Amino acid sequence: MQGKVWLVGAGPGDPGLLTLKGARALQRCDTLVYDYLASEAIVGLAPPDCEKIYVGKKAGAHTLSQDEITALLVRLGSAGKKVVRLKGGDVFVFARGGEEAQALAEAGVPFEIVPGITSAIAAPAYAGIPVTHRDHNTSFTIATGHEDPTKGYSSLDFAKLANPKATTIFLMAMGNLAGIVGELRANGLPDTIPVGIVHEGTKPTQAVVTATLGTILAEVERTGISAPAIVVIGEVVREREHIRWFDAQPLFGKRVLVTRPAHQADDFAQQLWEVGAVPIIAPTIALGPPPDPEAARAAVARVREYAWVVFTSRNGVDAFFDLLGELGRDARAFADAKIAAIGPKTAAALTTRGIRVDLVPQTYVNEAVADALLAHTQAGERVLVFRAHEAREVLPQTLYDAGRAVDVVAGYATRAVDDPSLAEKAERADVVTFTSSSTVKGLLENVPHGARLLVTKTVACIGPITAQTAREAGIRVDVVADEFTVDGLVRALTAAPA
Ligand code: SAH
Repeated sequence: MQGKVWLVGAGPGDPGLLTLKGARALQRCDTLVYDYLASEAIVGLAPPDCEKIYVGKKAGAHTLSQDEITALLVRLGSAGKKVVRLKGGDVFVFARGGEEAQALAEAGVPFEIVPGITSAIAAPAYAGIPVTHRDHNTSFTIATGHEDPTKGYSSLDFAKLANPKATTIFLMAMGNLAGIVGELRANGLPDTIPVGIVHEGTKPTQAVVTATLGTILAEVERTGISAPAIVVIGEVVREREHIRWFDAQPLFGKRVLVTRPAHQADDFAQQLWEVGAVPIIAPTIALGPPPDPEAARAAVARVREYAWVVFTSRNGVDAFFDLLGELGRDARAFADAKIAAIGPKTAAALTTRGIRVDLVPQTYVNEAVADALLAHTQAGERVLVFRAHEAREVLPQTLYDAGRAVDVVAGYATRAVDDPSLAEKAERADVVTFTSSSTVKGLLENVPHGARLLVTKTVACIGPITAQTAREAGIRVDVVADEFTVDGLVRALTAAPA
């Protein structure tokens, strides 16, 4: 079988900046060769059974030499492997992709180049520095600040780079910054020219220092800003004042504890990355079978006998369809039963199962479901409430009091996890989120001094019921979402200064 090597640019750090083509190559590879600039979220796109080979390349700590890496790619490709060689930024911008491609071509190993977004442009962009701007420049130069002759880069023409009307973007320049600044000044670039340094651009750890050619060395000394960084020299740096955005977001750089069950944390984590925050995945609860699985199975088997079936969580939908599958049945089991969902996420879970939901209340709480159902049903009609074992009684009680024939069935149960690392994770967080009352209880079971530990954190709850549970446990709640979904929670957090 013929192998193939994809040289893929991973982009500068923000996992969202990987190209679609790069993601497809990763999802299909059987061997991944990557280095330290690749983010975990991107490496995680490779299939679980894919062989992952870390080749290092952090300055001073090379795991494999470049020749060894190149030889490895040729060997894997020749052995019939589908290999992704993942590189930070773009594959050809100071990344030695040219040499790797050349070796593959010579060895007759098929390959593809998947360009990536280079940090040279993206890191300044995330710092609010456009690499060109009509008011300032008509060209920019991307240069290496690493003047090691063994790297094979030719010497820089500082006389040309010292042009106040141009922009120069240096990679790998932190070790040699004094030399670079000295050369530019010696070649007549004025001390007043703005300089910006972007450390770990596009990541929640991004740090930016701006100064001028005359003051930048002192500023680096004062702030301790370090590699990996992009150094931008030119008038365009002034634009940061006007268009700074990424690191101005309220959640930027904040560590956010995600306490919901692991299988539901992905979407939330993704949304947090997008606003510049760092999710700390720390499930406090896990889901399991209900105390009476037979009752759940029986209710599922007879579902067509109900006038309405009510789902109060996505987990309930999953549990229902798992049981239905075990019975060898599918969505037709509902027959003419009408279906209510507590909110849009639950409704979406039903839609993916081919079920068009008949009712979603205006607000996503049990009280609102009860009111809406009362308007749609008559006394004596049969209603199945399929939910968690641990749930409030208000929904069935309201229906029952109004004469509906209600069956309450637990489709699953939540239990606190047993995770000794939870306290340490909570300690590290700036923001702690609770997406249900059981996540609050799950945290407190693992961290008995939780209420005290959270005093210095921003505490955010998905809705008023969860907030009430937290308050009753002595936890001060700072943020409550207006819309009781994870999207609503992220919106509330980005509106409130954390
Ligand atoms: N091929 C990469 C560059 C590799 S050279 C690209 O196109 O981005 C490594 C250098 O890239 C680092 O020393 C640093 O100068 C720069 N770099 C890479 N990622 C960076 C980031 N997220 N923020 C700032 N600089 C980065």
